[in-house]
Amino acid sequence: MHTHKETILVVEDDPKIRNFICYTLKQEGYPFLTSSSGKDALSTVVSQSVDLMLLDLGLPDIDGMEVIQTVRQWSELPILVVSARDRDNEKADALDSGADDYLTKPFSATELMARIRVALRHLQRVQKDQSPTVLTVGELSIDLEKHLVYLHGTELHVTPLEYNLLALLMKNAGKVLTTQYILNELYGPRYGSDTQALRALMAGLRRKIEKEPAKPRYILTEIGVGYRMIGE
Ligand code: CA
Repeated sequence: MHTHKETILVVEDDPKIRNFICYTLKQEGYPFLTSSSGKDALSTVVSQSVDLMLLDLGLPDIDGMEVIQTVRQWSELPILVVSARDRDNEKADALDSGADDYLTKPFSATELMARIRVALRHLQRVQKDQSPTVLTVGELSIDLEKHLVYLHGTELHVTPLEYNLLALLMKNAGKVLTTQYILNELYGPRYGSDTQALRALMAGLRRKIEKEPAKPRYILTEIGVGYRMIGE
């Protein structure tokens, strides 16, 4: 068994789910801490060395959303939100508040570990401050220095807006970006509410990069939330 160095804080008040998560982390060799309330989670984050927070939004004392906002006032600690199904608004709000990703209950151990690995990989990249200039996902590559896109090794013509959208998604591969976040990044907060424009832009980009735009393999739609570029 591989032993990891990163400590994960599991914030969950439901003992069944908490035990499942902790059991999975133990199996995978991750050290972890647990909190069953928002206040306890916040004091643990300041007093202990934590590398990733796994956060249930429905906590008995303070709202999980408030936990995210409070942590974000001083820390870039990766936060993976655990949320119940059919609460898309909540997921979007959590991501907009600064959470890095979310998991929908119920989830499998495999899914949990995949999301944790993505979140920790992002952290390592930020820590080393080594943002690679060429990003690759499947057969798709983007050269951030030369502003070029390649598909199957062949240069692909994209418009400047399509390029910006693709670069944003590829820099965050594996993570869900909310529609609002993408709009703000592309058009700025003043014009950032035209979801129709984003849908049209996305359709155009998908026609260029996807074999079957109706069944996208690269950019997945997260219904009611936003979009996700598949992980590397
Ligand atoms: Ca709960």
